[in-house]
Amino acid sequence: MKIICIGRNYVAHARELNNEVPDKPVFFLKPDSALVIANRPFFYPEFSNDVHHELEVVIRINRLGRSIEEGFAHRYYNEVALGVDFTARDLQAEQKKKGLPWEIAKGFDYSAPISEFYPLDKYGDIHKLSFRLDVNGKTVQDGNTSLMIFSFEKIIAYVSRFMTLKTGDLIYTGTPAGVGPVAINDRLEAYLEGDKLMDFPVK
Ligand code: MG
Repeated sequence: MKIICIGRNYVAHARELNNEVPDKPVFFLKPDSALVIANRPFFYPEFSNDVHHELEVVIRINRLGRSIEEGFAHRYYNEVALGVDFTARDLQAEQKKKGLPWEIAKGFDYSAPISEFYPLDKYGDIHKLSFRLDVNGKTVQDGNTSLMIFSFEKIIAYVSRFMTLKTGDLIYTGTPAGVGPVAINDRLEAYLEGDKLMDFPVK
């Protein structure tokens, strides 16, 4: 199983980090050891002093495919979840400056908490889902999938040109604006269409 993450998929977030708005999807991978399930705590890593939350809508691939046409991509997923793409922003900034890969900043243990998955029809049109993150009771990220630069289908079509998608693969589809640092003892609560899907502490 692999975890594919899309970067810079919301204009306002690309701008807040002074990144260009991309003309094709930017993606990177996290290992399966990054996953944290069942609202278990996120353990703050000792190698960073600036870990940021990035709340994202996540889909799970439900069949094998490669070079999938955009028009058929909707057949390759039928469940949705929320996840946090924790990012060691200090390490990422160093890597970006040197033009080096992001894995140490993005793929570390516990960097990918995930909620349970729900069938798409529970929430209606996946292209118009509202989602938000509260830290210590205050809303810090408030997004809607209608604002994605690249749709779920475009992402599946693009990524599958380069790597085969397999059943169980996860795609974190990018974060809206409002990313920021977390601290030990913070409480993160994430909502999809008003339903609380995640509630976990930073330890
Ligand atoms: Mg992200």
